[in-house]
Amino acid sequence: MSDNEQSDRPERTERGERSERGGSGGGRRFYSRPRVCQFCGDKSIVLDYKNTQLLRGFVNQEGKIRPRRQTGTCARHQRAVAATIKQARHMALLPFVGETLS
Ligand SMILES: [Zn+2]
Repeated sequence: MSDNEQSDRPERTERGERSERGGSGGGRRFYSRPRVCQFCGDKSIVLDYKNTQLLRGFVNQEGKIRPRRQTGTCARHQRAVAATIKQARHMALLPFVGETLS
């Protein structure tokens, strides 16, 4: 005759309050980044220093070459892109330093 009902459940309803960070001054743009290198995927893309429209997609606003993580370009083409961008810079088609946005 031993009724040992252990209903010892401490009910805790502690909810961690998530402090929402106020994102002020967001000048970031997130482009859709393809997982596959776009040059490998689309062979019709011609890497040319004159193709500044294309190259501008590979530099950030500061005029720096964007890392592979952002562009999704494979190592081989990333090098090609970097070389082409440098070429374009020499031709003054791309800025060495981007316009400073204040
Ligand atoms: Zn590639």
